[in-house]
Amino acid sequence: MKDSFSEDKYLEIYGARVHNLKNIDLKIPRNQLVVITGLSGSGKSSLAFDTIYAEGQRRYMESFSAYARQFIGSMERPDVDKIKGLSPVISIEQKSVNRNPRSTVGTITEIYDFFRLLYARASDAYSYKTGEKMVRYSEEQISKLILEQYFGKKINVLAPVVRARKGHYRELFEQIRQSGYLRVRVDGELREISFGMQLDRYKTHDIEIVIDRIEVNDKSTTRLAQTIQTALKQGKGLLQVLDQDTNELRYFSRLLMCPTTGLSYDEPEPNTFSFNSPYGACPKCNGLGEIAEVDLKKIIPDNSKNIRKGGLAPIGEYKNNWIFNQLEAIGIKYGFTLNTPLAEIPDEAIDVILYGANQSFDVKKEYLGVMTTYTLNFEGIINFIEAQNNENASPAIRRWAGSFMNHVACPQCEGTRLKKEARHFKIDEKNIAEVAALDIRELANWVETLPKKLSEKQMLIGKEVLREIEKRITFLLDVGIEYLNLNRPANTLSGGESQRIRLATQIGSQLTGVLYILDEPSIGLHQRDNHRLIQSLKQLRDIGNSVIVVEHDKDTILAADHVVDIGPGASG
Ligand SMILES: [Zn+2]
Repeated sequence: MKDSFSEDKYLEIYGARVHNLKNIDLKIPRNQLVVITGLSGSGKSSLAFDTIYAEGQRRYMESFSAYARQFIGSMERPDVDKIKGLSPVISIEQKSVNRNPRSTVGTITEIYDFFRLLYARASDAYSYKTGEKMVRYSEEQISKLILEQYFGKKINVLAPVVRARKGHYRELFEQIRQSGYLRVRVDGELREISFGMQLDRYKTHDIEIVIDRIEVNDKSTTRLAQTIQTALKQGKGLLQVLDQDTNELRYFSRLLMCPTTGLSYDEPEPNTFSFNSPYGACPKCNGLGEIAEVDLKKIIPDNSKNIRKGGLAPIGEYKNNWIFNQLEAIGIKYGFTLNTPLAEIPDEAIDVILYGANQSFDVKKEYLGVMTTYTLNFEGIINFIEAQNNENASPAIRRWAGSFMNHVACPQCEGTRLKKEARHFKIDEKNIAEVAALDIRELANWVETLPKKLSEKQMLIGKEVLREIEKRITFLLDVGIEYLNLNRPANTLSGGESQRIRLATQIGSQLTGVLYILDEPSIGLHQRDNHRLIQSLKQLRDIGNSVIVVEHDKDTILAADHVVDIGPGASG
């Protein structure tokens, strides 16, 4: 790259003829804010994007190895005699729209990624069963707690090995017996392990090993410590204490755990909060926050129509095929024909048409004195459409299925895209989904209050991350998009909004020696916001970059260090 880009004071262009440019020569100062202006059709964009940017891209590609270039191909040289003093070019255009449904304002600005880090390090976990704050103890703490709470009492120390799972567990009992344990607790009942013991394999069971029966007192402290260590090992970090007199059960865990129910979570990691990772994504919508649901009105748009005339929209008018034969058979069973208006078909039959028949059933049809048996094995029109709308289907089939569906917020995660566990880690009573739903202004205010609310320990581990978040939020406020939130899907942003987000991201990246080109960033902006935008452009310049803006807005022209007016004649 060093060879293709220079440290000159000017960007010099000779003989530019792309599109309507009339062989123009230009000298543009570098490291300044430059506006290229001119009437529409004068070739502003042809100069900025199709000449300067295109040549920058081409030189960038040339800098790749020959091996890499054979995969990316080579770019055509724009119609220009010579360009001197070109830096690496980044264009921030309005048209570049991100179509990935998994991209949000939070992910493209990386602010959400920093919040994931903050939540992994500095949040508190709450039980989704009881809402209680989860606890996590060291082995010494567990010993101390048991000594305090059960002093003078007889207890069973249990190690849970099976929780709410089906199976007969014959091998497990044998293994426990061979390890030297005599008793287990099965589904809440203490039992001695007998030879060949097994359970009902079709029922779900809870099984705990009775590690020790012990009276808690001064003499038993060493034994208790040993028991706790063994129980935590067998229970993979979790143990239970059963009070022999009251039968009351309590949980103690080295892992995050609900003290009442024993529900435990894995230690949080940044992935726990990512809707683009299986560790964090809602399993129902796979982290998209919405699901496609068949719309009944689109299946039966007009119930005065009959099936023969196309009353069931997805299958259209009558054809002599399997599906219409099946519908005819359903009609024979429920007493309607393909000529009956859908409104007059009994609800029970409509149910079979839409959702299918669970079992196949026989329908006898008397035709010309002969009895015919039909076997119905109909999956139902709604089920069929849902089955077509999967990631393996061809785009055409998915489009077809999609035309009978609506996108609705996912009922399981309520549109938050995240797993239940992920939504129960909180900072200042907010989970990460609630934070992502705040608009940028509210978010800035909330983040500002955090240093006062977080504990000293949380601040110690979260300080750096918070600083990164604050910096990036400030850039977003500077470009005037405080009304957006982090959760907003990138594919619903306007061209101007995504341009401003990219601008903010570029300022945040602190690259220097780059030539940025923007097309008409003032479009759709209130004058006040445009002034802030101009400040952002100057910020980009002050870091040590050249900024070229294609624009006809007066304020922007006034604010520029240098104006190139290529006028209507485009003669330079
Ligand atoms: Zn969901």
